[in-house]
Amino acid sequence: MNSELRQTLEQQNIRFVRILWCDNANVIRAKAFHTGFLAEHQEQGISISIAQQAIPVMYDAVAPESGLGPVGEAWLVPDWSTFNALPYAPGHARVMGDMIRSGEPWDLCPRSFLKRMIAEAETEDLQILAAFENEFYLLRTLAGAIVPADDTVFASTLAMDLNQPVIDGISEALLAQRILVERYYPESGGGQHEFAIRYTQALQAADWQIALRETVRGVALRHQLRASFLPKIFANQAGSGCHLHLSLWRQGKNLMPGTSHEAEGELSPIAQSFTAGILYHLPALMALTTPSINSYRRLQPHFWSGAFRCWGVDNREAALRVPSNPSPPSPTHIELRTVDASSNPYLALGAVIAAGLDGIRQKMDLSESVTLDPANLPVGDRQQRGIDRLPENLGEAIAYLSCNKTLLHALGKNLAQAFLSVRKMEWEALKGLTLEEEVKLLLERY
Ligand code: GLU
Ligand code: MG
Repeated sequence: MNSELRQTLEQQNIRFVRILWCDNANVIRAKAFHTGFLAEHQEQGISISIAQQAIPVMYDAVAPESGLGPVGEAWLVPDWSTFNALPYAPGHARVMGDMIRSGEPWDLCPRSFLKRMIAEAETEDLQILAAFENEFYLLRTLAGAIVPADDTVFASTLAMDLNQPVIDGISEALLAQRILVERYYPESGGGQHEFAIRYTQALQAADWQIALRETVRGVALRHQLRASFLPKIFANQAGSGCHLHLSLWRQGKNLMPGTSHEAEGELSPIAQSFTAGILYHLPALMALTTPSINSYRRLQPHFWSGAFRCWGVDNREAALRVPSNPSPPSPTHIELRTVDASSNPYLALGAVIAAGLDGIRQKMDLSESVTLDPANLPVGDRQQRGIDRLPENLGEAIAYLSCNKTLLHALGKNLAQAFLSVRKMEWEALKGLTLEEEVKLLLERY
């Protein structure tokens, strides 16, 4: 292995290998080692302070309630199956790191948390396939201000022509990393774009989400542009979601479609319970799926962002959309829209799996499909149908997570404590900011 890897690194002229992690503030970070010292780093990786899992998004300071401090190391051990040379940073490569302490996966490691939830699903003989569908803005600087790279509308072919070099660059860079690009189109906001990549096993889907965030930004930089996945940058333009597509499988069979051919978009009983579990836990899940102070500016009624706790076939205002297909099998998956790319994909996906499994184990019933924009229903009708407005700020979502036994148990005591302490520190420090101040701080974090 050592000599094979060395050969690959030499052939591709790699000088630095970046070992990545995504922290509890959902910032992607890396430490890199020089390939001259491969032997030392190949197996054991690079150490980081355990306090790295206690750092909020604003600055590098340790969250006081995290249970973590300056003493103690975790090892970022490369998962070489995720190795890729970086098309947008020639001479550098990327590998995802698992956090290891005393030879074991550290209970605060987000990637290991997702692995635990995947294993939990396996105990029910269930496999989860997933895809993160990203929207993001391409931006440029004009007289010191950050502005959208263009002024176009949804699916504008002009936007395609204007941005072809950077879009082709992103797509080629993704394909070079064997990330399958399925669809691309300009989104509603001027300068806003969307990439749909192929669904894959849950762990790889989360790895691809990190790779995509990195690749979009890296390629944009080479085109003198900035890219941002921040959920809401401009008050009067569309926000950026990161809808999470999910399907349940057993021994190679997709378990999502129901058996009746009359009911279009009918989910199977197990898929109904899985979906019901996600909806049941959604207010608490949001601390993980829409975890930024800025996330809640996106989650407005009438903006197709999933601001209401309900589901509906082909309903883009529901938190959970069941997309129908023109011919069977239909549906093949569900789409959780109350997700954005300021989330740590390992934590978000792992927690969604935990919520769905709880639905299956408790045999939860799925409410009725909602076939209109819930914001257009009188409040009384909404209440009667159990369609709640979801948390309107990060503080509310934190409060829901803090008392959600299922999710706290899934995360485990130490990860839950560190994660919540970081969320609380951010909420306290940032809750008074204006949109402009938020954007100034967060634009290039995500
Ligand atoms: N931009 C919308 C959001 O915030 C989604 C628009 C769409 O693709 O349906 O999620
Ligand atoms: Mg979209």
